[in-house]
Amino acid sequence: MFSYHNHSVFSDGSAAPEQMIAAGVRAGLTETGMSDHYSVLPGGSFPGWSMTDSSLGEYFSCLDALKEKYSGETIVRKGVEIDFFPETIDAVCGSLEPFSPDYIIGSVHFWGDFPIDDTAEKWTALSPEEADCVIEGYWKKIIAMAEDGRVDIVGHIDLYKKFGRFGRIDTGAFEDTALEAVRDSGLALEINTAGFYKPAGEFYPSLSVLRKAVRLEIPVVVNSDAHHPAHLRRSFPEAYKLLEGLGVSRLAGFEGRRMVMRGLDY
Ligand SMILES: [Zn+2]
Ligand SMILES: [Zn+2]
Repeated sequence: MFSYHNHSVFSDGSAAPEQMIAAGVRAGLTETGMSDHYSVLPGGSFPGWSMTDSSLGEYFSCLDALKEKYSGETIVRKGVEIDFFPETIDAVCGSLEPFSPDYIIGSVHFWGDFPIDDTAEKWTALSPEEADCVIEGYWKKIIAMAEDGRVDIVGHIDLYKKFGRFGRIDTGAFEDTALEAVRDSGLALEINTAGFYKPAGEFYPSLSVLRKAVRLEIPVVVNSDAHHPAHLRRSFPEAYKLLEGLGVSRLAGFEGRRMVMRGLDY
C-alpha cells in the first residue's frame, strides 16, 4: 500500500514530516508521500494553513533528506497539494518546478473567497440558492483545473459535501464533464478516505462518481489526507476492497511526475 496525500507541520498537519514517514514505515507502506499545502491566492497571498514561497525550499530539502534516510524502509515521495486558481496556476507551476516534485495534487478549496471546507456554519448561513451557486462554481473550477491539466492527481473531487448536503442542484452533468476532462488530460483521481470521518460520512468521491470514473478508465490512487501519523492508511482496506469490487486491479503511482501503475498488492 502507498499513501500520497498527507500533511505535516509545514502546513496544517500535526506532526513533523519525519514522524509521518516513520509512521509510514510502521504501517508497512511501500511509499509514503507528503503533500503539504501550497495555496497561492489570486493577488499572491497565502492562507494561514499554506506554505509560502519562502518555506518551499526547506520543505523539499527536508523531504530529500528523509528520502535518503529511510531508503530501504519506505520510498519517500515529494508531493504538494495546490489550490487551483486560473490566475495563479502559472506562478505555482513555475515555483514548484525547481524542486522536482514526484506529484502535484490539484484541489479546489475556494470558490471566489468562499472557503469550501472551512466550517459547517459558513454553509448553513447560505440560502439553498446560494449553496447551489457555490456548488456549481466549485465544479466549474474542477473542470477548469482538469482541462488545464498541469496537476497530476485531482484531490477530493466532491469536497463540498464535507459538512453534509447543502443545495439542491443536480451535479450529474458537471461530474460527467469533469471526469471526461480528467481522462482527456491523463490525470489520476484520488479516493480520499477522509470524507468518511466527516459529516459527509463517505469517501470523496461518492460511489456514483467513482463508478463513472472507473467506467472511463481513469487511473485512481487511494489517499487518506492524513493530518496525523495515525491516519496514514485510514480506511485503506475498505477502499481497496471497494475498488476490487468495481474491477479495478491497478493504482496510479508517481515518480518525478510520471505515472507508474501499481498492482493492488504493491
Ligand atoms: Zn485538500
Ligand atoms: Zn489535504
